[in-house]
Amino acid sequence: MVVKAEQVREYLETLTEGELAELFYQASSNLIVKEVYENGDFYQEKICLARTIYGGSEGVPDQESTTQLVALPAKSVRNVNWGGSLSQSGNCKQCKVELVSVAKKVVCPVCNTDNHCT
Ligand SMILES: [Zn+2]
Repeated sequence: MVVKAEQVREYLETLTEGELAELFYQASSNLIVKEVYENGDFYQEKICLARTIYGGSEGVPDQESTTQLVALPAKSVRNVNWGGSLSQSGNCKQCKVELVSVAKKVVCPVCNTDNHCT
């Protein structure tokens, strides 16, 4: 079966933010851009979904501008109906990135650590 890009786009437009995030991470779960072992250290590059809130005047972002990585709900709460909008946020306790999710219990898309959002 051949699916056209237009059909994919139309389908994606029907999803909630949470459903879109789930599908994105499922589709990209095996997509590691680069892994490097260097001097005993390990580095990994992968693609994550992000939400940005950007505002300001004359092209200069104000203090409210931010970029958050979209985190999926933790496995223990994956079957809960969270409503579908990215309304919970917090910081990863391990790698410190800012997170946003539909759920309060989430998994960091960078380091896979369980975290809490509010
Ligand atoms: Zn993390």
